[in-house]
Amino acid sequence: MKKIAVITSGGDAPGMNACIRAIVLTANQHDVEVIGFRHGFRGIVEDLNLPLHPNDMRLVSQRGGTILLSSRYPEFKQVSAAKAAAAVLDQHNIGALVVIGGDGSFRGAHHLDQYWDGQVIGIPGTIDNDLAGTDTTIGFTTAVDTAMEAIDRIRETAEAMARVFLIEVMGRHAGFIGLHAAIAGSAEGMLVPELEPQPKLADIADRIKQARAAFPDSSYLIVVSENLWPGGVENLARELTQATGTTCHSAPLGHIQRGGRPNAEDRILSMQLGQAAVHALLDGLSGHMIGVEQGHVVQVPLRLTFERDKPLDPRLVDLQLGLQQLNFASKVVKESA
Ligand code: ADP
Repeated sequence: MKKIAVITSGGDAPGMNACIRAIVLTANQHDVEVIGFRHGFRGIVEDLNLPLHPNDMRLVSQRGGTILLSSRYPEFKQVSAAKAAAAVLDQHNIGALVVIGGDGSFRGAHHLDQYWDGQVIGIPGTIDNDLAGTDTTIGFTTAVDTAMEAIDRIRETAEAMARVFLIEVMGRHAGFIGLHAAIAGSAEGMLVPELEPQPKLADIADRIKQARAAFPDSSYLIVVSENLWPGGVENLARELTQATGTTCHSAPLGHIQRGGRPNAEDRILSMQLGQAAVHALLDGLSGHMIGVEQGHVVQVPLRLTFERDKPLDPRLVDLQLGLQQLNFASKVVKESA
């Protein structure tokens, strides 16, 4: 194999650039060329190719986002799109494709695998950490750091004014960022999709009223996962304000969680996975994700990464439920969708 292609697809995540660097440098050591395609799967179909040289890799690992750009390209679900991508890859004499992305991107990689003879490898790149078969994903710990820092800042003003805040964090349909940010930010409460039963408005309002009656000078921060409450935290804050008679503030953290320089952990993970992906390709592997479990690099069939659910760590759930002042949920942990 003389040429590898690489794309970043779906939601961008801090660390993707460090991963691209590791792929390019490792491939170069084995006399393999690397061609990037910009904008994910759309870039393959439209042949938006960008040859990547080791010399281009200076000063990229530090940067958030992705130098290859990304996109959402639902058309790739069509067989004709996968065949068109296969034809472009063949025109360039590419023997293997590395897809850095989340579960949608891995579905795309698996789809392409059915219509292309080359090798396909996935590297988990998503801040949501919602891929089974790997303990963590590129960008997750940086996003948690960013959320924690934002929570710390809200804490200072909330404490000065004894306010209640509902802080919305990302995660798509999983509570990994919510749980980790709640623990790191010492949140009084946490609402994540994996908890059962999901508390009703009246439960949350009652706990806030009781807590404020006992400790009126304290702040109360509740971390809420996106896509959990109908209408988001703005709506929840409005409903709670009515139900408690206390003004409840909403703070959706939004896309700041996606951007920023990757932390050391994400850079190291990205480079470890990028290097291992090239080694695996040289060994002939295809149709797998390169992930990490308990510090060891693992190879997991792509299908298993998006068809299986990934649960929150029950020990961390218990930690937060044990420490938080506002307990609205039982300890039953459901696996995330
Ligand atoms: P993420 O990879 O971060 O989960 P998306 O869910 O948006 O992001 O998926 C990224 C891209 O992967 C989509 O825009 C599309 O091009 C491709 N994709 C997603 N699901 C499929 C599928 N079932 N078949 C083929 N391609 C898919």
